[in-house]
Amino acid sequence: MIGSGAAGLAAAITAASRRLRVLVAEKAPQFGGTTAYSGGWLWVPHNHAVRADGFEEPEDAPRMYLRAVLGNQYDDRKIDAYLHAAPRMAAFFAGQTAVKFLPGSSVPDFHGHLPGAVKGGRSMVAAPYDGRELGPLLPRLRQPIPETTLCGMGIAAGADLYHFLHATRTFASFLHVARRFGRHLAQRLRHGRGMQLVNGNALAARLLRSAADLNIGLHENLEAKRLIIEQGRVAGALFNAPHGPCAIRARRAVILATGGFPHDALRQQTLFAHVRAGTPHASAAPMENNGAGLRLGEQAGGQVRADLVDAAAWAPVSLPPRRDGSVGRYPHLIDRAKPGLIAVTADGRRFVNEAGPYHDFMRALFAATPTGRSVAAWLICDFRFLHRYGLGAVKPFPVPKGFYLRTGYLKRGNSLAALAAACGIDAAALADSVATHNADAASGEDRAFGRGGTPFQRAGGDARISPNPCLAPIATPPFYAVKIVPGSLGTFAGLNTDEHARVLDAAGQPVPGLFAVGNDMASIMGGHYPSGGITLGPAMTFGWLAAHFIADHQES
Ligand SMILES: Cc1cc2nc3c(=O)[nH]c(=O)nc-3n(C[C@H](O)[C@H](O)[C@H](O)COP(=O)(O)OP(=O)(O)OC[C@H]3O[C@@H](n4cnc5c(N)ncnc54)[C@H](O)[C@@H]3O)c2cc1C
Repeated sequence: MIGSGAAGLAAAITAASRRLRVLVAEKAPQFGGTTAYSGGWLWVPHNHAVRADGFEEPEDAPRMYLRAVLGNQYDDRKIDAYLHAAPRMAAFFAGQTAVKFLPGSSVPDFHGHLPGAVKGGRSMVAAPYDGRELGPLLPRLRQPIPETTLCGMGIAAGADLYHFLHATRTFASFLHVARRFGRHLAQRLRHGRGMQLVNGNALAARLLRSAADLNIGLHENLEAKRLIIEQGRVAGALFNAPHGPCAIRARRAVILATGGFPHDALRQQTLFAHVRAGTPHASAAPMENNGAGLRLGEQAGGQVRADLVDAAAWAPVSLPPRRDGSVGRYPHLIDRAKPGLIAVTADGRRFVNEAGPYHDFMRALFAATPTGRSVAAWLICDFRFLHRYGLGAVKPFPVPKGFYLRTGYLKRGNSLAALAAACGIDAAALADSVATHNADAASGEDRAFGRGGTPFQRAGGDARISPNPCLAPIATPPFYAVKIVPGSLGTFAGLNTDEHARVLDAAGQPVPGLFAVGNDMASIMGGHYPSGGITLGPAMTFGWLAAHFIADHQES
């Protein structure tokens, strides 16, 4: 197994449960990859967790939705394989390993206006995990992106996040946060870090625990460089190890699970139009994910698909400076839908429904950027918004914001004109955009873009704001802004595979002994983004399928 994210570890655990000998090679000093940074959500229709929560739907409803979103990218074989296997994969992990899930019964699909979309019931999230269960493995687990935590404490989606956003407004929320943070600080003093792992960090931890329970060989600092190919068959790989190069042979198969190419400059040039046009790409995925799996696959005759609608899971990202001089990549997944924020380009005009999915936000920004101009936008809000919800890496009151103001990450102006000047935005157009937005906020209808028009958008808003939970005036100075640049959560374009995750050559034939899973495999969603969890769900499912295929076939 090359790579230790959700895809690699799911495949490794399944293979070991089928009594195959498995080795996981991880290039980074810690396990978990992008998975350990993630929200930990999986889109798995008909999963056991939502069923236990009382959600049932017709067998074919998820297909109807996927057909509507994917259009001509809908691949019957792969979608069928996925929808059939995904709930079985979930039940296997929940029943036989340390991986446990909570139901996403009220997590809506992204495109609520399309046929077959649901308001909840197709997803599940990794249950929080006590890091002490990892024992000596704990320091070997990648930690979350620092800016998405509060002093290293992850905040879980759902009730946990709700309480954090309401800590200064209700006593119950204040108590929840005080208890959580107090426990976190005590654990930091005692163990050097908090022990309540949540979201994707909990998923990676649970996978790691499960792999260790099955005595899988787990090797960090082991970077795959070349495949060993003998008589047309992949027979192992050559690695860079701390003590020098080494060869590891694989009797049955090699599975590529290196998390795609978010930081492969060469492939970005080929597949990302904005990079070709001169705007750098700022993926929030770990720097180690530099496209090695795709290159290894090509070495054996595999083909990288360039025909997906979008080559990556786009996300608006801002670049918060860090105290150690480095720069973070903050993916704006939550703040955009809250009431009292708009996004504008340098011409001061809105270009998108800001409360929509992150992928669609970036599609709209790419489309709104004139040729020759670098792709960027500004998220604009007022004092009340910043105080309540925070903006990007800037946390809500009472967390101090001075560092981000001093470093220029957070721009401030006592008037909209002053803010426009600080950001280099057309002041008259910004004033006009805010005035129109404020009039719409009063009526509850965003006439230009329909903010708050779907269950997904409303779920991301603030339920206590009416008539539209995604709309509130931007009116209380000072005004604030954070700059957004193109980024991603990972990549969609990957190796062409069949429904067993076997890598296919130019003639469409399986390359003997070679599989690709997770973001090394071309996304079955064809470059579309139907719902949260459409990368981790397939990552674990095709890992599970690949391992079963290898176990069932002597020669795979
Ligand atoms: C902030 C954030 C939130 C997200 N939330 C969600 C979510 O809730 N649901 C969802 O579905 N998706 C989410 N995503 C996307 C999701 O995390 C990724 O698509 C997914 O984790 C990819 O899994 P993977 O196993 O393919 O790769 P990864 O988890 O990235 O693992 C790949 C591993 O391979 C290693 N590697 C790389 N090169 C080599 C080499 N040469 N040799 C050995 N090892 C190598 C890497 O170091 C890495 O550890 C999110 C992403 C981000 C950044």
